[in-house]
Amino acid sequence: MSDCIFCKIAEGEIPSHTVYEDDDFKAILDISPANPGHTVIIPKRHVENIFELENTDLCEKIFPVVAKLSNNLKESFNPDGLNVLQNNGTAAGQTVFHFHIHLIPRYNNDSVQIKWTPKELTQEELKSVFDSYVK
Ligand code: 5GP
Ligand code: ZN
Repeated sequence: MSDCIFCKIAEGEIPSHTVYEDDDFKAILDISPANPGHTVIIPKRHVENIFELENTDLCEKIFPVVAKLSNNLKESFNPDGLNVLQNNGTAAGQTVFHFHIHLIPRYNNDSVQIKWTPKELTQEELKSVFDSYVK
């Protein structure tokens, strides 16, 4: 994808602070981090979102990278917690349309907000959701 910023980063056309690289993935420091150490894992091959990821080799390869880098972040910065975040579509907050996973080190009472107001569903509503769910 010629106009994709993460393809350009993956190919080294645009510089990045690369904290991990293998044949399939590059992990870089986010340019506008939620907290210092905020890392983004990108596949080198252009895949737009999680829906395109299913049935690719990347699916089974990516989680070991997520776990390894989470531990590297823990060892490096000793955060109180860590969010693994992945956005698909504008409605979900995706701004770069090349699949990526965020690793965000978290600290007690930091200013990062990833939260929602829990909805209250009746048993009937819950059952209706369950029935609609493709299994
Ligand atoms: P999204 O909102 O799509 O889930 O996340 C995109 C992320 O990519 C954002 O956190 C943003 O700061 C980061 N980002 C966008 N452009 C660049 C860039 O050129 N270099 C780096 N390192 N990160 C970028
Ligand atoms: Zn791309």
